[in-house]
Amino acid sequence: MAILDILHYPDERLRNVARPVARVDADIQRTLDDMLETMYDAQGIGLSATQVDYPGRVVVIDVSEERNQPRFLVNPEIIHRDGMVESQEGCLSIPGYCDTIERAESIRYRALDRDGKAFEDEADGLLAICIQHEIDHLDGKLFIDYLSPLKRQRLHKKYLKLSKQPAAS
Ligand code: ZN
Repeated sequence: MAILDILHYPDERLRNVARPVARVDADIQRTLDDMLETMYDAQGIGLSATQVDYPGRVVVIDVSEERNQPRFLVNPEIIHRDGMVESQEGCLSIPGYCDTIERAESIRYRALDRDGKAFEDEADGLLAICIQHEIDHLDGKLFIDYLSPLKRQRLHKKYLKLSKQPAAS
């Protein structure tokens, strides 16, 4: 397995829309395993392919406290949303920023698992929020897109400046 580079906002590649995966083969499985390792290393609870500049619709998630319940979602799709909750979110691609947005409270979704098997399930709580956040990434969308234009402008300026600074050595 390998640790992949996570793209940071305002990298334009975060706006790429990922393509459906035609077949879950050994290449995809290796990508999923690398993404999982990268997510654990960064101490995240979810990571999407778009964030590591991989063009397929794949997501890894682990919302367990013990960090031992990995979930692999290939071609995930939300088929039903219910309710509305305030969600306090951050993102591995926007380090150091958190804000509150609205998400569906519970969802029904379908996907393929790591073996390419189709399944359908329900989620609520943190898992439901995480799935919505990661599927947004696959569509080139970030959680800060839900903020007011003024907040977004300020953030954009701040992160643009940060991205132009030489990395601290
Ligand atoms: Zn994110």
